[in-house]
Formats: sequence, C-alpha cells, structure tokens
Amino acid sequence: MQDKIWLSSPHMGGTEQKYVQEAFDANWVAPLGPNVDGFEKDIEEFLNANVKVGALSAGTAALHLALIQCGVVYGDEVICQSMTFSASANPIAYCGANPVFIDSEKDSWNMCPVALEEAIQDRISKGKKPKAIIVVHLYGMPAKMDEITAIANKYEIPVIEDAAEALGSTYKSRACGTFGRFGVLSFNGNKIITTSGGGALVCHTQEDKDQAVFLSTQARDNAPHYQHSQIGYNYRMSNIVAGIGRGQMEILADRVEARRKMHDFYVEIFKYIDGVDVFCEPTEDFYSNHWLSAIVVDGKKTGKAREDLRLAFLEDNIESRPLWKPMHLQPVFASAPYYGTNVAEKLFDDGLCLPSGSNLSDADRSRIEEVITKFFS
Ligand SMILES: *Cc1c(COP(=O)(O)O)cnc(C)c1O
Repeated sequence: MQDKIWLSSPHMGGTEQKYVQEAFDANWVAPLGPNVDGFEKDIEEFLNANVKVGALSAGTAALHLALIQCGVVYGDEVICQSMTFSASANPIAYCGANPVFIDSEKDSWNMCPVALEEAIQDRISKGKKPKAIIVVHLYGMPAKMDEITAIANKYEIPVIEDAAEALGSTYKSRACGTFGRFGVLSFNGNKIITTSGGGALVCHTQEDKDQAVFLSTQARDNAPHYQHSQIGYNYRMSNIVAGIGRGQMEILADRVEARRKMHDFYVEIFKYIDGVDVFCEPTEDFYSNHWLSAIVVDGKKTGKAREDLRLAFLEDNIESRPLWKPMHLQPVFASAPYYGTNVAEKLFDDGLCLPSGSNLSDADRSRIEEVITKFFS
C-alpha cells in the first residue's frame, strides 16, 4: 500500500520547538506566559486591522465566548450558516440558545444574504429578534461581508465571524475575522497553521479582549482569595502550545501560497473535464487561502457520481471528503428553523474536498492527478 495522502495535515516550519524550549527553560509551562503574549501580537500584526486578539484553547471556545459576550442567554435565538462544521453551531446550544439555520448562496457557498434577511424578518414577526449572526468563511472562501454587514447593521444584530478556516483570506483586501463584532480563529491540527489544538478570539476593543481573557481564566474577581461573581471557563491557551503557534506564524504566508498553488493545480486538471467545477473566487474582491480545495461533480454531465470518485481515491490510499453536511440536515438539529432553498443540500450531495495540504510533494500530486484522469476517462 502506498503512503497515505491526507486532506490536510500539520506542516511544521522548523522554529516551533525553539519557542517551546524557551517556555521549558523559563518554566512557563502554564496557561499564560510570553509565548501567549507573543503569539497574540503576531496574529494582531498579521490581521493588520487594529484588532486585539485573545489566544484560547480552541476555536470552539472562542465561539462560545463570543456568544456570551454578545449577551446570548438561555432561550435566545442565534442565526447560523447551515453549511459548516458542527463547531460553528454547537456553542449556541452551550448557551441554552436555539440556532436558526440559513442556506448558502451559489457564488461563495457561504451565508445567503437574501435568506438571512428573510429569516430576521420572520423571527422578529414571530416575536423574537435573533441575538447574533454566525457567518462562516467556508474552506477559506470569504463570505459576502458587505451584504451581510449591511443587513446586520440594519437590524442591529452583532456578527460573529467564524474564520476558523480562513486565516490568510481577505475580502476587499481586509482580513477575514476582522469584520464582525468578534472573529474566531482555529489552530486545530488540520487547519492552515496549527498549534496541535487551539483558537483565538479577534476583538475590536481592549475591553472585549480583557473580558474574554477574564472569562477564559475562570472569571476571577480582583481579590487576594478566589472570588467569583460570574461563571467562568478554562479556555486560555497554554504557553507551550502558543510556542508552536509563534513558529507557525513565521511561515503562514508560505502556507497560504502553497494552498493556493494546490487550488491552481486542480483548476488546471479539471479545465479539461466537462461537468466538474472547482470552487473558485467569484470576483477579485475575494481572496481565499484555499484551505481546502473542493469540486462539485455534475452527475448528469460526467456520468459519474461524486461518491465513486471518493472511493477511487480511497483505493489509492488518498483521503478526500464530502463537503460539510449542512446543520439543518443533522439529526441533532432536526427541530431548528431553516431559511433558504436547497443550495447547501446540493453542495453536500455533489461536492468533494480534495487533498490540499501545503506539504504535498510532486509525487503526491502525480498520484492524485492519475486517479482523477483515470476516473473521468
Ligand atoms: C475547525 C473549525 C472550528 C472549530 O475550531 P476548533 O479549534 O477545532 O475548536 C469552528 N468552525 C469551523 C468552520 C471550523 O472549521
């Protein structure tokens, strides 16, 4: 059996261990320390939008804190893009709130502004104004932030941007994660850069960041003893993990370039295969990190099923994966309201994510190309 080709695997730059060693040498083996401060500063500089970043234990934790800081409590409704990973929606349930799911639109595969406004109006008419809007930049592709922000502002609902997959992506030259009241980043093992596990909350005021740090370190009041006036969480990033992050930030730009090259590689292959569309930026306004390259297979035009391509890859020990199953089709969210048509559902039926790692070799690419060419010939 040939070596496995992964969808997206960790890719170290080489300096990560130096920062981890520094943490050991200084005995900063704790959920705070110089690497945490340095990592936050590196991200702030990279995003280049005058933001304040709080490093946390996971992107999921960042989403949870963003909801809490938007005032979401038991019984509230929160709007969420349906086409996403479950971690975008689960924190709504952690708050005891209820998700309202929105379909995707065809260009960006992200939240449809038309369905969003329809949903807001309908929820208000039913007596409940949604407390927040969670928009996702799927596979690194920016959502239509101008349209979504305009609607959110019109109804005065805060936007939480799930940019877990979109570090390095921009919309109209502005970094994804910096548009909403809060932005969420993830450094899980499969993301464009990784700390093995971790996340960050992007804030626009020092006050918001301070509150996030306070809540993420058990909400301790300012007293010599342990005193608490609020429920706290243990969500702060460890100084060891942040050391990995500092090393990874040094090569983030290279990783974006390599993922975008993988995308170009697929564009070139599928140019000659009628009925397969590669997921591309709709206009110049969108700049995707192409965290994952993805295709949609038209079964009628190609005479081939998406699932059979996945199996052909598997036979050669190459990982590929159907697009995210929309949240409104998940058993766990079966009772949640949904607004839109069947765009997300069709993407799930016909879409496939392809190996996209920045560490794939020319030999890996040859194997991938061979499977595709053979399958469609
Ligand atoms: C990875 C991911 C998350 C969760 O991040 P973790 O760091 O794994 O908790 C949230 N949303 C999306 C869209 C993701 O891809």
